[in-house]
Amino acid sequence: MKIQMVDLGRQYREIKGEIDDSIQSVVDSGQFILGPDVKELEHDLADYVGVKHAIGCGNGTDALQIALMSLGVGPGDEVITTPFTFVATAEVAALLGAKTVFADVREDDFNIDPKEVERKITGKTKAIVPVHLFGQPAMMDELVEISSSRGVPIVEDAAQAFGAEYKGKKMCSLGKIGCVSFFPSKNLGAYGDGGMIFTSDDDLAKKMRAIVSHGSEKKYYHDYIGVNSRLDTIQAAILRVKFRRLDRYNELRSGFAGKYTERLKGAVGTPRTFSDRKHIFHQYTIRTGRRDQMLDYLKENGIPSAVYYPVPLHLQKAYQYAGYKAGDFPISEKLSREVLSLPMHPHLLDEEVELITATIKRFLGK
Ligand SMILES: *Cc1c(COP(=O)(O)O)cnc(C)c1O
Repeated sequence: MKIQMVDLGRQYREIKGEIDDSIQSVVDSGQFILGPDVKELEHDLADYVGVKHAIGCGNGTDALQIALMSLGVGPGDEVITTPFTFVATAEVAALLGAKTVFADVREDDFNIDPKEVERKITGKTKAIVPVHLFGQPAMMDELVEISSSRGVPIVEDAAQAFGAEYKGKKMCSLGKIGCVSFFPSKNLGAYGDGGMIFTSDDDLAKKMRAIVSHGSEKKYYHDYIGVNSRLDTIQAAILRVKFRRLDRYNELRSGFAGKYTERLKGAVGTPRTFSDRKHIFHQYTIRTGRRDQMLDYLKENGIPSAVYYPVPLHLQKAYQYAGYKAGDFPISEKLSREVLSLPMHPHLLDEEVELITATIKRFLGK
């Protein structure tokens, strides 16, 4: 029994027939670019999220970039996001010439703190980008309130939270625009790169639909400066097979999260859940003061674990130009020293969770 952080092999063996057929049918059709599977998937996912438009694109990073492009983000503008996340958000704002302004996270959900967002808004703020980290929704009511009172749109980074809910609504339906990633290890993962953008705003949808294809609505007529970022038809076909199982997979993740928590409560910091939010456990992340030693001990015992994320973005070398320093975002910095993500995927086994938690307790002498 070799435990993995994410076991895509086990998943493939379960759905091999359908996956292989879906790939073969695209190859047979010869419609590799914007074939019918892309349209079908866009339609189904827009319905699922509860928005009017879904636009496939090349990956989750592009989804964020295209969202910011559609809002006209450029040099001189500011984009507010969290420093405790994957680098993509800060990266795309920087690529567009805008300044990434960080706002610290909350200790209970690891997500951007609406009070900090409020403090960071200026006349130059063009977008607020909350990240629903590890599958836990951010405090959307408070963020939406700030967004409407200050007239600054929200772009949700739901790369880790497709299927998560806030007060009964799916993530990507609460902000002006929502972005997801279909990177293979995400909750809805392709067999390569992929992403999607969601909105109910007709004008933005039209513009984003053009931007993904070189800024053109009509071939060889270019209304905007765009990019080449389309969702591959083979990936869309694979995603359609996996989407049919997404809710069940997310339930399985929650079940394993419950088992982890039951066994680890009191020994380490376990993830918070909230009655009005549905956490889909993209990661199951614990906190411990002896993080690095615990990681080594688990490794020696054949158990993988990972640190998401060891260096908050404001302290990354590439972002030094922004002028932040250690101590600026104390909660993000503390979390980056204490978090440890354990194996989490829908095909875990109870015995694996038992072995992992027993090993952690042995390390702690409990
Ligand atoms: C994965 C991820 C992205 C980027 O998605 P890609 O498809 O890898 O480009 C962006 N934001 C967060 C929070 C992510 O986890």
